[in-house]
Amino acid sequence: MSPDDLADLELDPAAVRAAGEAALDRIVAHLAAVGDAPSVGPLDDPAACHALAEPAPEHGAPIEALLDEVFARVPRAYTTNGPGYLAFVPGGGVFPAAIADFVAGATNRFTGVWAAAPALVQLEADALDWLRVAMGFPAGAAGLFTPGGSTATWNAILCARERHLGPELRRGTMYVTDQAHHSVVKSAKLAGIYPDRVRVVDTDAALRMRPDALDAAIAADRAAGFAPFLVVSSAGTTNTGAVDPLDAIGDVAARAGIWHHVDGAYGAFFHLVPSLRPTLAGLSRADSLTLDPHKGLFLPYGTGALLVRDGAALRAVHAAGASYLPDAQTAAYDPAQHGPDLSRGFPGLRVWMALKTYGFARYRAALAEKHALAGWAAGEVARIPGIVLDHPPALSLFAFHVADPGGLAAENAATAARLAAVNARGRVMLTGATVRGRHVGRVCVLSFRTRRAHVAAAVADLASATIGP
Ligand SMILES: *Cc1c(COP(=O)(O)O)cnc(C)c1O
Repeated sequence: MSPDDLADLELDPAAVRAAGEAALDRIVAHLAAVGDAPSVGPLDDPAACHALAEPAPEHGAPIEALLDEVFARVPRAYTTNGPGYLAFVPGGGVFPAAIADFVAGATNRFTGVWAAAPALVQLEADALDWLRVAMGFPAGAAGLFTPGGSTATWNAILCARERHLGPELRRGTMYVTDQAHHSVVKSAKLAGIYPDRVRVVDTDAALRMRPDALDAAIAADRAAGFAPFLVVSSAGTTNTGAVDPLDAIGDVAARAGIWHHVDGAYGAFFHLVPSLRPTLAGLSRADSLTLDPHKGLFLPYGTGALLVRDGAALRAVHAAGASYLPDAQTAAYDPAQHGPDLSRGFPGLRVWMALKTYGFARYRAALAEKHALAGWAAGEVARIPGIVLDHPPALSLFAFHVADPGGLAAENAATAARLAAVNARGRVMLTGATVRGRHVGRVCVLSFRTRRAHVAAAVADLASATIGP
């Protein structure tokens, strides 16, 4: 190729179509097979994966061959988009969001500032506003799409810090329980709040924060000269699905004059289901709320969201200008004035596309179904001889352990062995957690692909694993 040809990176329309169709062919085949794929791919040969490392390509290759290479790697993974994925906190990855990513990448509009693509940024603003309304936040709230729940919580801590501490970070103390997601303490440190200023508040038997203990911890810190500024509660913990008493924590926070952030990365979207609102009572009064569309809206990984009750608090953290940028908009939603990023992808489009494709009614139905499936499965698992249901599902996650006369260590080993046996069968994937020294198995129903038959398979595999190796 001549230097002129080498420099030309454009694909002609026929090549664009061929590349798109090559990708689509493989995607259609992948999705058609995902229901039957083993719940965990071949992960037992890490050396083979290390051996895939390769030097930088000086010269190009046909895109079809590259797609084949990628799709050959896809199965070596947890089957996170499969119906048997009941591990961690699933979501599944609805296809309309994948189409949105494809379109966003191909059209490559700049959506960091309103002025650069106002008709498109409005679509992101709408998607955020629909979430605001769905969560019962007032007009005047502001929001932000983030890469995930972790960064949503980080932005919330920045808001609370800016509002209550200003530059005096070391006096500030914040409050969590030992059931808070590990990203909360990590985010706090990213926000300049070191672990020695993160207080762990006692919980009740159901692993929910005790509001009286929160009250006492705040008072003790005040008396010692600290500046309590933030409590982070959980609308569904990752370990066992426990929902903190959000309303009572909101009362304590209001009385103490501190910020109340609710981590709803797992559970907040259940607020769409009217019958679950009492479980989440108080969520709508939070000062800020982490949502994870890549969990509860079933999107592919890559999108979290934050709502901040007083939108000015979010803008106070992130507002900035520069002579080379269009003027910041106050009348319109300007993403760069609400978050740390300037250039970024177009997260609003994938949320908008999914919400518009399905409508809230279908989301409500799907979430209600996941809750019902978890309730049914928990009842069945509780009836399996030798299994103890420790934490019934408040939303769609429950936890159990395998009983053993040998005591806690034997029970922990038996529980881990049971999970391994279930996963080895390949129909479903379950993961565990250790809660105060006890290893529990977890079932989290939150993939849109998980229906009654898959949950029944989980129950059957947990039961038949009792028969022995
Ligand atoms: C998943 C999760 C997080 C972290 O969210 P990411 O999207 O993985 O960054 C935080 N809190 C809870 C309760 C979660 O379930």
